[in-house]
Amino acid sequence: MGCHLIGCDGRSSLGRRFLCDISRGYEKVPINCVNGVDNEPYPGNFKYIPDNCVTSLVNINKDITHLQHCSCTDDCSSSTCTCGQLSLQCWYDSGRLLLDFCQQDPPVLFECNHACSCWRTCKNRVVQNGLRVRLQLFKTEKMGWGVRVMQDVPQGTFICEYVGEIITDTEANTRENDSFLFTLNDKVDDIHCIDARLFGNIGRFINHLCEPNLLPVKVFTMHQDLRFPRIAFFSSRAIKAGDQIGFDYGDHYWMVKSKYFSCECGSPKCRYDFGSLTSMTTS
Ligand SMILES: [Zn+2]
Ligand SMILES: [Zn+2]
Ligand SMILES: [Zn+2]
Repeated sequence: MGCHLIGCDGRSSLGRRFLCDISRGYEKVPINCVNGVDNEPYPGNFKYIPDNCVTSLVNINKDITHLQHCSCTDDCSSSTCTCGQLSLQCWYDSGRLLLDFCQQDPPVLFECNHACSCWRTCKNRVVQNGLRVRLQLFKTEKMGWGVRVMQDVPQGTFICEYVGEIITDTEANTRENDSFLFTLNDKVDDIHCIDARLFGNIGRFINHLCEPNLLPVKVFTMHQDLRFPRIAFFSSRAIKAGDQIGFDYGDHYWMVKSKYFSCECGSPKCRYDFGSLTSMTTS
């Protein structure tokens, strides 16, 4: 069976509808959707949004006078940039993370903001510039829908953000479907999550991989309310055009989900296949 495009502004020659951009033009690059596996149509049971949203009173502190900022008059490439210092150092070079960025324990990144003296074009801004890499939503053989890159991507490249509805931990516990939750912080109280079930971006389709090629990093851009970091995915190694992208959902996710299914990543290093899960839950 040929690969057919789903969802969009018309019918293909095969008589199947296709969607050329699931973001409806909200991202800088279009994200198309293909299903070459079965007849399942585009999973349009959510609203695509490019930035986090709220549906209840979540008081994010956006007071401009509370923003830590730099007084740089250059392009923020010097070690005296206050914003770089907040992130320990500025980890960006030519729009990518430096290769010695610590992947085991990633520092929180503070990008320059509108209270800084520098220009909008300074070097300490990457995530706020939005999605640049060509991505495609596609139906995988065994893992439902997934996301792949349509171009070669060097290590340290910003891929996309995990966008959704910002909710409290208490609200998260009442939600029927917990499959699209990303916890923002692990402090005992005042925990918030991003729920991408009803509102979300391409990040909601990224699968778990036991050999991940993405690293989630907490980033602050236009506000610095520490309870609400943005979650940005960077490539943790070079990725080839056509490869599926994925990150490590972590032990907690698999402790909860292993009752229902096991990992299908197919890697020889798979940690959550049926055998591994059995030993994890019985030990
Ligand atoms: Zn600066
Ligand atoms: Zn700057
Ligand atoms: Zn700055």
